Amino acid sequence: MVAALVIMTLAGSAVLLGCLSAYAWYRRALADCVEWGTTYRLIDAHVAALADQADALAARDAAESRTANSEARETQRLRTVAAEASNQRRQTDAAVHAITDVRVSCAAKQSPVALHEHVEAFRDASNRLRPEIGRIRSVFEPVAARVLEHDPQARAVAVNRIRAVMPGVRALYRDTPGLRDAGIGRGLRDALTQAASAADNPGSTYRTLADAEHTLFTKADEFTRARNTKRGIDCGRTACVALTFDDGPRVDISRRVVQSLRDKGDRATFFAVGGAIDDAAIPVLRDDTRYGMPVGSHTMSHTDLPAIMQAGTERQEFDDAATRISEATGRPVNLLRPPHGAADEASRRYLANHLGAGIALYDVDSYDWAVGASARSVQWKVTAQARPGSIILMHDIHEHTAAALPHILDALRAKGYRMVTIEELTGQYPRPGYVYYSRDNIIPW
Ligand SMILES: [Zn+2]
Repeated sequence: MVAALVIMTLAGSAVLLGCLSAYAWYRRALADCVEWGTTYRLIDAHVAALADQADALAARDAAESRTANSEARETQRLRTVAAEASNQRRQTDAAVHAITDVRVSCAAKQSPVALHEHVEAFRDASNRLRPEIGRIRSVFEPVAARVLEHDPQARAVAVNRIRAVMPGVRALYRDTPGLRDAGIGRGLRDALTQAASAADNPGSTYRTLADAEHTLFTKADEFTRARNTKRGIDCGRTACVALTFDDGPRVDISRRVVQSLRDKGDRATFFAVGGAIDDAAIPVLRDDTRYGMPVGSHTMSHTDLPAIMQAGTERQEFDDAATRISEATGRPVNLLRPPHGAADEASRRYLANHLGAGIALYDVDSYDWAVGASARSVQWKVTAQARPGSIILMHDIHEHTAAALPHILDALRAKGYRMVTIEELTGQYPRPGYVYYSRDNIIPW
């Protein structure tokens, strides 16, 4: 009798565990579907925009009748690469291309097999198209350097972006005293000087500006990786995850979240809503920064990015929010987390060129915002879904999130994870216009 009971209990546990892991699998697959569906849409829109820019540049070159043979060949090559990219876009499965609401289409796949196939179709379309961005850029830039050499508009955009990026890179340099005098620090300081003089000199050409920006990022990346090494972080070799907290600051909760992280020697990245920063919240944000936790923007009023672009409220929602946050933290904003994960080509462009900022998305949703969420559900969803390189979405405005955090940190550590910031995770200084879903899924600009 006892034996039978034991067997029944064990069998019951096995069934329960089986159900739980099936549910975990479904959650993970649904998250992957949304991630890769939106990745595909962002890449597709960007490739389309780049191909249009390439065609316009080639047409302008032809109209201005630059006739040197080598130049004509270069411009012809640009047309070809743009046409090939457009062709690659057209080769995407028509059913995949036609999907405008990724979340709805993912949620509609009820069977595990259908959901899995949907994820693979999105992933495949994304990975086929992604290399086109680099291919167009590599041919576009040399032609642009020649055709746009003294173009005032192109210069203004380049100057603006360099000016937007420099304060953040300067803060990186300033905040890492141990590396400033090393060769790597001198390299970054020289790149900063070069970028400043390129931006300040009215005679500098498009090429000078592009080169200065390129060098600045190369050196900032080297410096970021050296800082990681100094901190004993190498997310290429060991498993890391980046916890992120949106919608704050909410003084009591945000303080508890930061304290839990500090207690365990961990770091996270925060995305503050500009409109939520009152006098009481300023010291909280200042402390985040002091403890090495970057604070990015989550817009001024928690509005979706496409809606901001349509309403024409970019200045308030992006620029003013970034100013308010950086006044509180003492550090420039170089990343923005879109409310509800909604971003588009127009908002990427604005953030890249006006704010010099990238976009931080996520591949793991803790669902701490959902109705009925509890400390237990949040802990379970995070630990069940986290993978090496994940960026994890949480909110420092919920009691249950603050309550779950110490347990999440313990559980992730027990699984071998190190909890780091997004910059530490990617080993890259955040790039204007780039979209970061995870360490392994980064969309270039
Ligand atoms: Zn939010």
